[in-house]
Amino acid sequence: MKKVLSFDVDQTLNVAKTPIPDEIADLLIGCLKAGLKICPISGQKFDQFLIQIVDRLVERGATKEELANLHLFVAQGTQYYRFNAEKNDWDQVYSFPLTDEQVAKITQAIETAAKELNFWEEDKLQPGDEIIENRLSQVTFSALGQKAGTKEKYAWDPDCKKREAIVKRAKELAPEFDYEIGGTTSINAITPGMNKVFGMTHLLEELKVTKEDVLYFGDMTQPGGNDYPVVQMGIDTITVRSHEDTAYALRGILGFTNNL
Ligand SMILES: [Mg+2]
Repeated sequence: MKKVLSFDVDQTLNVAKTPIPDEIADLLIGCLKAGLKICPISGQKFDQFLIQIVDRLVERGATKEELANLHLFVAQGTQYYRFNAEKNDWDQVYSFPLTDEQVAKITQAIETAAKELNFWEEDKLQPGDEIIENRLSQVTFSALGQKAGTKEKYAWDPDCKKREAIVKRAKELAPEFDYEIGGTTSINAITPGMNKVFGMTHLLEELKVTKEDVLYFGDMTQPGGNDYPVVQMGIDTITVRSHEDTAYALRGILGFTNNL
């Protein structure tokens, strides 16, 4: 019996960059009620975890006791937040940020690569939006910015070919970093090892569980995808195409748990 359900966020719990739908929120609350620990792990920043996941759970009726079973592994788990029921707020347990110099180097490599390949879409950005974002523990390239429409994002690079080309060139320009493809238009740049293995290793430590206790859900489990490192660790993984697949699997898990 698994004790921990861990989830990629974009495309696994939601439509990329949007709040989780009611169905997923209700199923996650069901899991929290059943005593399962729920651990989203994604390249997103903390405020996005609040908007996309936590606020939705609260709206759907999650109690403080249930939130205490929710563990947020932000920026691929290089930051970890835990709910403090007394304060009714989140405590940051740890954080491993990049240095300013590393951020500058990555930013330059990705920007140069995208411009050389004609994939630098600055003219398509909405006001105040940006293509490259410093997320403290990682630098993230979002081809059309954070605020672009979902439809445009899905259409931009459905076969990952554009991003694979950018990654290849950026790796030549700044080989000391790792570049992972995630979401619909994103590339996450990190220092080697600061991927989901780092997050997952800390998750096991912090929650005092073993690999066998964890079931992971992700949509990018293929080699090169940002969920692949979890598969390589030997953690049981369910590959999903969308949050609909995740909902289907969670219904099965909850049915099973409730019948015990
Ligand atoms: Mg994903």
